[in-house]
Amino acid sequence: MKTFKELILEDKKYKKLLIDSYKEFLKDFFKVNIKVNIKILKRTKSDYFGDVDIGMLRSKKYVIKVEDGYNFLHYISHEYTHIAQFLRGDLDIEDGFIIWKGKKFMSTNDYSNINNFDEYKKLPWEKEAYENQEKLPKKFLNSSFCSDLKGKDATLDFGIENNLWF
Ligand SMILES: [Zn+2]
Repeated sequence: MKTFKELILEDKKYKKLLIDSYKEFLKDFFKVNIKVNIKILKRTKSDYFGDVDIGMLRSKKYVIKVEDGYNFLHYISHEYTHIAQFLRGDLDIEDGFIIWKGKKFMSTNDYSNINNFDEYKKLPWEKEAYENQEKLPKKFLNSSFCSDLKGKDATLDFGIENNLWF
């Protein structure tokens, strides 16, 4: 049997409203003016929760892929942080190396081979992304971007009132 949370998650109508408003909130928070395409992917059993292709950012294609679920706003915040880091010139990938603040930090190979989660979360670009992942959805909840959403969709209103995504 499905829980109420699972049922509401299948109702896709509100998602566009929520995501469009969240994108405006993030533009404002990071002080960027870009059009980001957010793709919500079906849930999987793996550890995957989302990604952004740094190589594509260079050609001004801002695509974020995140897994569906209650944490999708958290995941979007995480990946959006990496875009913001790239735009302000802090994060890049060059010749198989991750460049952080202008210096070769580590090879992309070493990066993909990290399997200690604590070690991973300490990388400077990940540290900021994980912090924002926790902080931003709550900040959004108390912003005008969120209050402006009220009254447009019953499912959305219910979700906001009951803190389903924050
Ligand atoms: Zn990350």
